[in-house]
Amino acid sequence: MAHCTISTISAFRDNYIWCIHDDSTAVIVDPGDATPVLRFLEDNNLDLEAALVTHHHPDHVGGIQTLGTNFPNLRVIGSPESRFGGIKEQVREGDSVIAGGNSFSVIDVPGHTLDHIAFVLSNEESTHLFCGDTLFSAGCGRLFEGTAKQMHDSLRKLQNLPAETQIYCAHEYTLSNLDFALSLMPNNKDLQDYHNQCTLKRENNESTIPTTLSQELKINPFLRESDPEIIDNLQTLNYKALSEAEDRFAAIRHAKDNA
Ligand code: ZN
Ligand code: FE
Repeated sequence: MAHCTISTISAFRDNYIWCIHDDSTAVIVDPGDATPVLRFLEDNNLDLEAALVTHHHPDHVGGIQTLGTNFPNLRVIGSPESRFGGIKEQVREGDSVIAGGNSFSVIDVPGHTLDHIAFVLSNEESTHLFCGDTLFSAGCGRLFEGTAKQMHDSLRKLQNLPAETQIYCAHEYTLSNLDFALSLMPNNKDLQDYHNQCTLKRENNESTIPTTLSQELKINPFLRESDPEIIDNLQTLNYKALSEAEDRFAAIRHAKDNA
């Protein structure tokens, strides 16, 4: 797959299923629903080689059984910790998996769930991160199973990727995340500009994803727990014990959950 394309397949209300393909073979990330995936594969005449699973939630794995019926040799690749029963190839941090002719490296990113992993596809030009429900544009996943410390550590790992990394998360949550981000960083000019850009995109029915790590570092409150403006606003909201980065992260997550 010398020249791979990454296509967006929309599912449910606000899920994105990512399809990495050339003109014959496809790899799919988090197929929560088989119907739009089968339609996309048929329209583009693609054979499905593998499904990459970031975590066990139904909106990420719900289509796998049907896809397996249509493509009996389908490789289903995910975490050994997965509560989803359909994983056929187990991968963990440090592994790389070759699928559709591309090499994906695996990072453990517990927090949203304990089985959560992310896949990183790097080629000469760029780095692409498939991070499921870990990092969103202007937000991060809710802590359903993991602790704030686990999520904070996971996001730190993602922050170490190259700044130009393209981030393919699994949901279009950007505008509502931006409302919360603006409440903590009302004077952040990059955030105001990004909010305007994203509002326009959504008015035109365009996706705001992928985003880039360099953009998120400027505007995502969950990557900016040392920003003095955020700390000020957390204090105004009556959060105390904010001396450790991890505690500030936990306060931001708590404030978002209660926004
Ligand atoms: Zn999820
Ligand atoms: Fe999800």
